[in-house]
Amino acid sequence: MAPHATGRVGYNPHVYAIRRSARARRIRVTVAHDGQVTVVAPLRAGDRAITRALHEAGPWIERTRLRLASVPRLGLDRPGVVWQRGRPLHVIREVGSPRAESDDGVLVLRAPDDAAALRAVLRWYRSACLAIVRAHLGEVRDRIDADPARITARDTRTRFGSCNAHGALSFSWRLVVAPDELIHHVALHEAAHLVHHDHSQGFWDLLTALDPTTPLRRAELRRHGGEILGYDASLALLPADATRASAAIRSACSLGSIALASSRT
Ligand SMILES: [Zn+2]
Repeated sequence: MAPHATGRVGYNPHVYAIRRSARARRIRVTVAHDGQVTVVAPLRAGDRAITRALHEAGPWIERTRLRLASVPRLGLDRPGVVWQRGRPLHVIREVGSPRAESDDGVLVLRAPDDAAALRAVLRWYRSACLAIVRAHLGEVRDRIDADPARITARDTRTRFGSCNAHGALSFSWRLVVAPDELIHHVALHEAAHLVHHDHSQGFWDLLTALDPTTPLRRAELRRHGGEILGYDASLALLPADATRASAAIRSACSLGSIALASSRT
């Protein structure tokens, strides 16, 4: 974990965190869906350059925070649960060899320690995502004249899905925490790319034929996409009564740079 620093900036005080990154080529300012401002800076960036970047980003930070404050949330940052199709499953922890199994509204999570427990949760999320996406794709198999070469679930925070030139579909496992209509929509979006490898009119016509609720789902993805892609699976390990304000449950997804359900980019 990178060291954090907090401070106040310029005429427009925001409490912010600084994360130094060896991979960062330039200073980048992000606003998470909870309003937290983070500066990602190259190792050698000086304090003055960081202050200047924050100052320049001030109006954008203000606009973004105002917009976020008016967006209704799904409330995914709840401790002690995992989410599947927009519904919470309560986590029951047990000590033993790693295993995560959902049954009747609960997830029984067995592991010798927290690190193994988190890995088990992530494995469970990935396989749940694959199973649910495959089911949605199966529903439209007869209506699409192409089969995916491969379907994978990945740990991505910037997009829900993608389709490559060889017809391999990949989805962020975080998609599975979303309500089922959104999972359905994203699965069909990528499936439609098996036929149209772009966002041409033909693509949108096909997607709308497959999912007539497309305009509504796209609006919902714009509204909730940041929260879903910023979802932090380690929340599942916290006791159910942990406070929401806990620093541990802050996610660091940058709404400003999210590409929703895009592909082939
Ligand atoms: Zn697309």
